Amino acid sequence: MSGEVPATVQGIYEEVLRRNPGETEFHQAVREVLESLAVVLGRHREYTEMKTVERICEPERQIIFRVPWQDDRGEVWINRGFRVEFNSALGPYKGGLRFHPSVNLGIVKFLGFEQIFKNALTGMPIGGGKGGSDFDPKGRSDAEVMRFCQSFMTELYRHLGEYTDVPAGDIGVGAREIGYLFGQYKRITNRYESGVLTGKGLGWGGALVRTEATGYGAAFFAEAMMAARGETFEGKRVVISGSGNVAVYGIEKVHQLGGTAVACSDSSGYVVDEKGIDLDLLKQVKEVERGRVDTYAQRRDSATFVAGGSVWDVPCDVAIPSATQNELDGDAAAVLARNGCRYVVEGANMPATPAAVKVFRDTGIGFAPGKAANAGGVATSALEMQQNASRDRWTFEHSEARLAEIMRDIHARCHETAEEYGSPGDLVLGANVAGFLQVAEAVHAHGLI
Ligand code: NDP
Repeated sequence: MSGEVPATVQGIYEEVLRRNPGETEFHQAVREVLESLAVVLGRHREYTEMKTVERICEPERQIIFRVPWQDDRGEVWINRGFRVEFNSALGPYKGGLRFHPSVNLGIVKFLGFEQIFKNALTGMPIGGGKGGSDFDPKGRSDAEVMRFCQSFMTELYRHLGEYTDVPAGDIGVGAREIGYLFGQYKRITNRYESGVLTGKGLGWGGALVRTEATGYGAAFFAEAMMAARGETFEGKRVVISGSGNVAVYGIEKVHQLGGTAVACSDSSGYVVDEKGIDLDLLKQVKEVERGRVDTYAQRRDSATFVAGGSVWDVPCDVAIPSATQNELDGDAAAVLARNGCRYVVEGANMPATPAAVKVFRDTGIGFAPGKAANAGGVATSALEMQQNASRDRWTFEHSEARLAEIMRDIHARCHETAEEYGSPGDLVLGANVAGFLQVAEAVHAHGLI
């Protein structure tokens, strides 16, 4: 772990361990927030008396359900579906759905817990939730994915609503899956309720910039961090892990801001391209052909593919981990530091392990936690809800300007809160404290519920 659990919150942490056995990612996420909160509880006795932290650590509702479906050969499969409605103090539950074989309750709870504070940091009226399934869409036909999504929504629909719970995409859930999920929701409820899902297609209620938002937002956040140190992206080498939604649009914005992304990855390995990643080719391989990154290397002379291995071995000034949780450990962090990396900005949720975060602190690497740096996705989802509610449609330029402003505001809030609470430059503490305070105030105002 990156630090000690302070004595004031030790009891809360032990209770979380006892009540949620085996949910290691959830424990890790809670612990990281609790480490920041001792300083807050010292100033707000009411949160201790009313057990506000304890209440925030307990989801309001957890739904687990069976998802039966049939593949193209007629074989029956049974997956498990989850939706954790964690906290609705600030608005309807909001957070993505993840389809990946690694999904279990502990992972969904870690993601839902993080989402509470992330959503608070955006300043938008949205609560925190997360869901998904252990279904693996990789290698499945469109028809199989459609049947799975229809079965998944046939149970989930009863828990959703534009004022209740509004899912979006995450790993394994993109525009195709959102389309099938929305279609089934509409069919069952007989309601064209645009605001019930975000990440929709542009022709039927989707918002411009939602697809790009998380990657763009992480790059805007990195830009704000650099500006605070009098630097810019100009001339910087950037390594981004993953090659999914967050990575692709992170690379796009890094290039637009003057940096050069030289490496990206997927679960098969990584590619290095000293000329800079050719984004058109990467999009063709990953988004159109749904292929692997080695295909990118086969089609580009300046690129090499490394099977397996760690993308963090590639020297860079800025690292943007954008694949999955705990993908960047203490050893990888030490390699980044040795190679002169100056900034690590989490595009994914909790990609850096506590040991990695400790290395960043010890070596003075600027570090942005995902709940701040990748909040652009959910913030733009809230903008999509806003456009749906007003039957309006904003231009790309207007939406992107709003996103850039939101990311600068989040950075400023984390930066200022860290200073106010005695840890200048510590964006982890700044994000946790600023997010917590906003949620805690609303939880407190709503009484003991
Ligand atoms: P995608 O499914 O589009 O892409 C995920 C990428 O990460 C793929 O390249 C995938 O490779 C790789 N990856 C996933 N799991 C693993 C693993 N266990 N080991 C190695 N590589 C892996 O997902 P997103 O880009 O949407 O999400 C990436 C991260 O960003 C997640 O942590 C997500 O929670 C977070 N995030 C996403 C938001 C969004 O708007 N999309 C918003 C906020 C956070 P492969 O294809 O080989 O599995």
